[in-house]
Amino acid sequence: MIRMNENYLKLQASYLFAQIAQRVNAYQAQNPQQKIIRLGIGDVTRALPAACIAAFHRAVEEMANDATFRGYGPEQGYEFLREKIAVHDFQARGADISADEVFISDGAKCDTGNFQELFAQDIRIAIPDPVYPVYIDTNVMAGRTATWRNGRYEGVVYLESTEANDYIPQLPQENVDLIYLCFPNNPTGRTITKEQLRAWVEYARAHRALILYDAAYVEFIRDDELPQSIYEIEGAQEVAVEFRSFSKTAGFTGTRCAYTVVPRRCQVYDAQGNRHSLHALWDRRQSTKFNGVSYPVQRAAEAVFSPEGKVQVRALSDYYLTNARLIRETMAKLGFACVGGEHAPYVWIKTGMDSWAFFDLLLHKAGVVCTPGVGFGSCGEGYVRLSAFNSHENVREALQRISHALAHS
Ligand code: PLP
Repeated sequence: MIRMNENYLKLQASYLFAQIAQRVNAYQAQNPQQKIIRLGIGDVTRALPAACIAAFHRAVEEMANDATFRGYGPEQGYEFLREKIAVHDFQARGADISADEVFISDGAKCDTGNFQELFAQDIRIAIPDPVYPVYIDTNVMAGRTATWRNGRYEGVVYLESTEANDYIPQLPQENVDLIYLCFPNNPTGRTITKEQLRAWVEYARAHRALILYDAAYVEFIRDDELPQSIYEIEGAQEVAVEFRSFSKTAGFTGTRCAYTVVPRRCQVYDAQGNRHSLHALWDRRQSTKFNGVSYPVQRAAEAVFSPEGKVQVRALSDYYLTNARLIRETMAKLGFACVGGEHAPYVWIKTGMDSWAFFDLLLHKAGVVCTPGVGFGSCGEGYVRLSAFNSHENVREALQRISHALAHS
């Protein structure tokens, strides 16, 4: 008898987008004339930057010719891309990261999901609430949590981000071994200061813990004082792994390219307390289970760092930030407390009612789709996330409809 991994039976959160789709489809069936505006799912809507497209085309041409054709590439990614990342994303900001510490992949989703398999089953994990659901779900699948009770998995330390702590979680009171952090945060859009991040690095150093730092939305940071990388904090190289993605930076959600930084100085321990290189572990894992990102995609990603690529990528994120500002200002004018939307493409809105009730209100009265906050963790109850990933026209129309609907509800 083929037996299943029963940890999958514990999973809850994956119903979120299915449930949204179900309610939207039911509403559309009853209102076939209504144009629904989707400010729910965090997918980009604008085309790839011209510099990326040109590089993509050139690389496809190389694949069409025996003399320049490429087969399997290095599992860790091509040197040309790893080098550009190390120089532009880290060394330029004073973070001492070298090309061989950068692992190219086809997504931060897979990397944040896969990374946990390097650790023991009985480690104590700390996960923000609310946050991107992949961190918790992959640990559930791996059997690192107990059962679901009262909206949470037992055996997990939840790092609560609420109005009371200005949406920046406090350090855990107890010992934890693996800490997930995500800034700018999905879904709150909140950013962290260097001082606040330093406290986490110090905690990890003191407890021989490891931080998994997801910076998928770093491109939206506009305040130069805010840290873009955890490696801007002294000592982080020994206790932190960083995930980045070209998805939101350069519109690569359908093209697929991301990377993970595992510094050579990062250590993990066996049961006897002996040190081992985390870099060597991830390298072993990737070369066994992953065969690299396609050559044309890596060339397209490399173009992000060219002078024209940098200008185009900035224009792209500026476009979405204009939407985010408008969403935040309009919702604040309507009397809602909001965070995010300044250095992030998401606005986190305190609704004053149940998340799903507000979702239904926006859908039925305005034909606008948002994401109920409770889908990101129990601290998200009473909130919704509005995403800036849409056209200016759609965002303006959605906000007009919301303003009108709320004035008449
Ligand atoms: N990390 C966070 C916080 C995200 O919100 C997302 C996507 O929404 C990802 C990672 C996934 O990125 P990728 O497209 O590189 O898999």
